[in-house]
Amino acid sequence: MNTIQMKAFGKVNLGLDVVRRRADGYHEVRMIMQTVQLFDKVSIEKRSKAGIRIKTNLPFLPVNANNIAYKAAKMLMDEFGIQAGVAIDIEKHIPVAAGMAGGSTDGAAVLYGINRLFNLGLSKRQLMERGVKLGADVPYCILRGTVLSEGIGEILTPVKALPDCHILIAKPPVSVSTKYVYEHLKLDDSIRHPDIDGMVAALKNGDLSGVTSRMGNVLESVTAVKHPEIEAIKQTMIREGALGALMSGSGPTVFGIFDDKEKGKQAREILKQGTLARQVYLVRPYNIRPYHK
Ligand code: ATP
Repeated sequence: MNTIQMKAFGKVNLGLDVVRRRADGYHEVRMIMQTVQLFDKVSIEKRSKAGIRIKTNLPFLPVNANNIAYKAAKMLMDEFGIQAGVAIDIEKHIPVAAGMAGGSTDGAAVLYGINRLFNLGLSKRQLMERGVKLGADVPYCILRGTVLSEGIGEILTPVKALPDCHILIAKPPVSVSTKYVYEHLKLDDSIRHPDIDGMVAALKNGDLSGVTSRMGNVLESVTAVKHPEIEAIKQTMIREGALGALMSGSGPTVFGIFDDKEKGKQAREILKQGTLARQVYLVRPYNIRPYHK
């Protein structure tokens, strides 16, 4: 095998709670993560010439050691003393700096791909252990599906899959730094914490409206205050029939959950025609299938 092609899926957070700030500055979270069928296409080709070459369709992304895909390849190639080189091609579709783990999922795909291409024999767990050194979301992007994420994002427990539905994703034309959002989060009494345990129970019962009624993200208290488009997109989705609408991760991407595809399509067209969002997609939840074709 000389090449491998993978789909690197993005995620949304159905619920995101920050429990406390630790003395070392990290935040303890409780999140329900959901993989969505919006993906980057990542391919890796073996080359006889040593070195890691990155190519991507987005000219503003780094193609050097700052690309998380490069870091992922280097980590495994150094550890296993791989002499050959690799050419990595990333066709980006997941919005960048958007709260959808776009970079992390490319890194996760490269860990998976290098492991297979060079027959390294690492298990999923072993890849996840290495992935956390690249970023807090990387282990989840290897695991995928509907998952409760705790600790600083490294304690992952798969939960019952989100019932099938239609997820409308809309990214306003602003970029948000995850670091900025966490640094400006004030964990005082005014914060409304989402009912994460209630959401896990609703998932267990296959109760979609029980899930959507519990959607909440404490990071909206920072990002949505700075970017009023976020609330406006949420309102549009709800008005058009979404069961729930929320900002994903540290934002600014907003997603809405619809049980009716036609209503989802209608909301997509309204958002596409307006100025609130620039990237708009109607997708479904993704629940685990193999990584490569
Ligand atoms: P998260 O939800 O994990 O916080 P995010 O969606 O907020 O992620 P990313 O899209 O992962 O953010 O990108 C954050 C930054 O990482 C970008 O500014 C970009 O320059 C850099 N980056 C490095 N490699 C990649 C990659 N393969 N894809 C996207 N961004 C990358």
